[in-house]
Amino acid sequence: MKITKVTGYQIELPLKEPFVINYATYPNMPAFILKIETDEGITGFGEAVPDEHVNGEHVNGLYETMEHLIAPALIHKNPLNINAILEEIDQLIINNPSLKAAVDIALHDILGKKANLPLYELLGGKTKDKLSYAKVLSVKPFEQLKADIDLLLSEGYKVIKVKLGGEVTSDCIKLKQILDYVDSSIEIRVDCNQAWTSPKRIAQMVNSLKYPNLMWIEQPLKYDDLKGMDYLYDNMNVPLMFDESILNVKQLAQLNIRTDLINVKLMKCGGIKGALDIIKYAEAHHIPCQIGSMVESSIGSAAGYHVAMSQRNVQTTELTGPLLFKKDIGNLTYKVPYVYLSGLPGLGIEINEQNLKDITKRQFKVSGQNE
Ligand SMILES: [Mg+2]
Repeated sequence: MKITKVTGYQIELPLKEPFVINYATYPNMPAFILKIETDEGITGFGEAVPDEHVNGEHVNGLYETMEHLIAPALIHKNPLNINAILEEIDQLIINNPSLKAAVDIALHDILGKKANLPLYELLGGKTKDKLSYAKVLSVKPFEQLKADIDLLLSEGYKVIKVKLGGEVTSDCIKLKQILDYVDSSIEIRVDCNQAWTSPKRIAQMVNSLKYPNLMWIEQPLKYDDLKGMDYLYDNMNVPLMFDESILNVKQLAQLNIRTDLINVKLMKCGGIKGALDIIKYAEAHHIPCQIGSMVESSIGSAAGYHVAMSQRNVQTTELTGPLLFKKDIGNLTYKVPYVYLSGLPGLGIEINEQNLKDITKRQFKVSGQNE
């Protein structure tokens, strides 16, 4: 099999309401879709959602790099040689994990379609029957959060992820209000996206919250404050989750990270292969993982769910991008509180070409001389 054509789409996924976290407010999600066509008529789709605050990539740069450097290198390659292709791209450009994730995901989609199997089967089969997901709430004042919480509890959600983005004392007062407001059967997860400072104060404040349904505190400190995170691992009574501090398995192996949990994202580690590497390493070190997201469409989210389905060490997922969009380009199915993979080959996603066209800002095509 040979790759004959590569198409790139710079898109903007339209959000139902702005997504607000500590370091940014997104009115819409800028993203990139990669379409790889082959001489056997099999087409694979991949996605990149770059985040300049996390992995240093911007969608404009990603588009140009893909068009001028990566797409030409893919033409005439056998898409089933996934490892060799990804190694070559690593030689062409360092870092750029979300760009690499787009290629990795599209190649895996082709592999699954060629084998006529859903991707999770090729990754080792199911390790769980169902995949549940959390509802993610943006940074908001408590009064507004209350209305959101009422709505999602009425919809049947059992797990809520709250984004915090203020100072530790006021945030912990708000968190206490939330924990007092919900029933103790509702799991509350917290993500600070690096907002807090002063590890001693954090440990003091968090340890004063004695709620069994407070599941963990994710990335309270700046990504490079590893000493502070290490202090919290030893002194905070609520489990600690790493996100922005760990992009890939090499960092995890080389930085002497101690943590209770890791939020793995395909966009941080270069896709499915990179995610499997970090999940397996973490498993050997008794660290459970979550598959999180950069707010991806059905394509990137499905790729994450296939990994989650096939890996015992992935205990939770938060791939809820498609629920936040007014218009998606695929048909990943959510029915509170579970997500359903279609069982179709590859990612199992049908692409809505009209929707893709509607949200495309610009596109390129690269093909071989005779195609
Ligand atoms: Mg996070």
